[in-house]
Amino acid sequence: MKLICIGRNYRDHASELNNPVPTRPLIFMKPPSALLLNNKPFYYPAFTQDLQHEVEVILKISKNGRHIQPAFASGYYQEVGLGIDFTARDVQSELKSKGHPWELAKAFDHSAVVSSFMPLGARDPHALSFHLTKNGEIVQQGNTADLIFDFDYLITYISQFFKLQMGDLIFTGTPAGVGPVQIGDELVGYLEGKEMFTCEIK
Ligand code: MG
Repeated sequence: MKLICIGRNYRDHASELNNPVPTRPLIFMKPPSALLLNNKPFYYPAFTQDLQHEVEVILKISKNGRHIQPAFASGYYQEVGLGIDFTARDVQSELKSKGHPWELAKAFDHSAVVSSFMPLGARDPHALSFHLTKNGEIVQQGNTADLIFDFDYLITYISQFFKLQMGDLIFTGTPAGVGPVQIGDELVGYLEGKEMFTCEIK
């Protein structure tokens, strides 16, 4: 399975990091070894002094497809989850300044917190509210109505380059409010008012 991630997909987050708003989706990947499931704790890695949370809605791909046309894109996902795209911001800044790839800052072990999934059912996928708390206080909140590139556009775009396969996950981008975590912090993610995951930093 693949973990496909979208960068800068909410205007307010692109601007908080002084990045331009993209005209095409910014895509990167994490390997399966990045998964952190079942509310397991995250162990702060030694290679960073600035580990940051990015809470994101996750799409689970429900059937295989390539070159998916926009009219059919919504048929490729039926469930959504919530997760964290953990980012070593200091490492990322150095890589960005050199024009190098981001993997060391984004794709390391357990950098992808993934919750259980809920069926979309009759919900509008582009009106999902979500938020993240750190030690009980809201640090990020967003709504998929504010996506720059919506889910269907992402499915169409990504599938021009990569075959989407059942079980692949798409991290759809983070809203404003990204920030550092410290050992001892507890992160809790909520989607549509429902608690989706907890993650303790150890
Ligand atoms: Mg992200």
